[in-house]
Amino acid sequence: MNEKQKGGISVNTENIFPVIKKWLYSEKDIFLREIVSNATDAVTKLKRLQSLGEAAESTEPYRIDVILDKEAKTLTVEDNGIGMTEEELKKYICSIALSGAVDFIQKYEGEGDASKNGIIGHFGLGFYSAFMVSDTVEIHTRSYTGAPAVHWTCSAEGEYEIEADDKESRGTEVIMHITDDEAAYLENGKIREMLNKYCAFMPVEIYFDDGAEKKEGEEAKPINDTTPLWQKPPSECTEEEYKDFYRKVFADFREPLFQIHINADYPLNFKGILYFPRIANNYESIEGQVKLYYNQVFVADNIKEVIPEYLLMLKGVLDCPELPLNVSRSYLQTNSYVAKVSAHIVKKVADKLVAMNRDDRETYEKVWDDIKTFVEYACMRDDKFWNRTKDALLLKLTDGSHVTIKDYLDGAKEKHENTVYYTTDPSLQAQYIAMYEAQSIRVVHFDNMLDTQFAATVESKMAGVKFVRVDADLAGVLKGDGETAENEAMRDLFRKVSGNDKLTVKFEVLKDADIPVILNVSEDSRRMEDMMKMYRMSGGQDGMPDFPVDTTLIVNTASPLVQKIGGMPDGDGAKAESFAAYLYRLAVLSQRRFNAKEMQTFLKDSYRILGELLQ
Ligand code: ADP
Repeated sequence: MNEKQKGGISVNTENIFPVIKKWLYSEKDIFLREIVSNATDAVTKLKRLQSLGEAAESTEPYRIDVILDKEAKTLTVEDNGIGMTEEELKKYICSIALSGAVDFIQKYEGEGDASKNGIIGHFGLGFYSAFMVSDTVEIHTRSYTGAPAVHWTCSAEGEYEIEADDKESRGTEVIMHITDDEAAYLENGKIREMLNKYCAFMPVEIYFDDGAEKKEGEEAKPINDTTPLWQKPPSECTEEEYKDFYRKVFADFREPLFQIHINADYPLNFKGILYFPRIANNYESIEGQVKLYYNQVFVADNIKEVIPEYLLMLKGVLDCPELPLNVSRSYLQTNSYVAKVSAHIVKKVADKLVAMNRDDRETYEKVWDDIKTFVEYACMRDDKFWNRTKDALLLKLTDGSHVTIKDYLDGAKEKHENTVYYTTDPSLQAQYIAMYEAQSIRVVHFDNMLDTQFAATVESKMAGVKFVRVDADLAGVLKGDGETAENEAMRDLFRKVSGNDKLTVKFEVLKDADIPVILNVSEDSRRMEDMMKMYRMSGGQDGMPDFPVDTTLIVNTASPLVQKIGGMPDGDGAKAESFAAYLYRLAVLSQRRFNAKEMQTFLKDSYRILGELLQ
């Protein structure tokens, strides 16, 4: 080639270059990934030809150099891969790559604004994404075949020139002349950050030359790890390696609880490591991070189209080389490969929990409180996950020990079949808990807002099973033998002192004669209240709402105190009333917090009673 050749890029979309320039402002950073991953592809292709005996073996190590030259305002990516002949350059760069970019942009435009946050923003534009930040791009390339080197220069208007080049070494050098508007891409820190984000695990060593002078004796180190842990067979990985990898990738100083290494063969063909992070026991604060890679090239975090939403609470890496990433997100959502990958991950996570419950129950119980929010949420969101894990789901008891739902229900068969008793506040509900535990009934401790919602899910999935808070109803086993007499006068008395003349008052004989009166709030009406509270996001006055509608006062006719009131002569009306009022307050006190007025009255009454005792 002796003469300079000139040409104009002829595409059906006239002004593709201005479009590229403006394209997806927020995702501009990906241009570097596109150019560097082309360089790794060029090395991979050469290696393959060498292994087939179609290219001569090379002695120098494969490498990619990213070179920042602030003065010249250039960013260069150089590889010693396969290179291109003039014909190839014309075909791949001037024709195929360009029409690929045109297709991509047309597809993108059809996707509308929503796609800006989606996966389509992360992949597909290829080589021409360099023009998002450059006004001129140059290529110097020499093919492994020994064909003459070529030099290609293309302006941001799409005018290009091809001429002979004096490049002697094999490979390709892409020089991006950064526009003044995008001067940020001439900052050392910015480029380093982008390399760390997108190129940290690319399969060819990448060296970054930021233009600073090298200290003597300083050896250049690649910025990437070419053999990330997920590529290693799980049987060869140590716990220490998993932890190191976690710390490095997520910069999280807390150790993960455990991890799942997925190595799916044909036809799914993807790998990954998912970690269960240590989390605060609060649903709101969980924020995981699942990084998606495509052949060791970072694509994006938390891609909902590929990973079920609830798994995004985990931290991890997934490498899916088969993903059709250059298609639209709506396509991904309905893609059967994606659905299978997602299902496989769910299965692996569920299997891990089942295996831990079976083989290492001690550790499983230890981590349960940390993982349960995730597990409960996953069960609520996904029937398949529930079906796989249902026999490995734990309930925490009031003494801090754990039992599976299945074991709890098996143990409940005789005394309270299909009913799980629970407390949401062991100190406030202590009296109720004591009543159940005295009858050897185990009480589950719900210490998280999600627990009650999860209980409703379990009820909907296990026919007949019911979760009942300890203060919700009087279980048969708590009732003693003996006759219960209705007492209208006493009913009126309690209604009067409660200030609620519609209060349901029931007379029962309880096994525990020490308890004179207790309040029960029906499970259903309380759940309704809880739900309303959640929507309102605030309680009533003093933080507590008024009594929910369905409240019952149980009067224990076996209690000597109750019998005393019943036995008081009519003339002692005032005494009986203050006695009943005090008992009623005690019942309230053991069921919920007092409001300010109740507290004042209660204290006043207590002082008065103490005073009377001293007389
Ligand atoms: P893609 O990488 O998806 O094929 P690109 O637009 O990024 O699309 O690149 C188009 C083509 O240009 C590549 O397929 C490859 O043939 C060629 N190419 C780009 N960069 C290089 C390089 N560094 N070395 C050799 N060939 C390259």
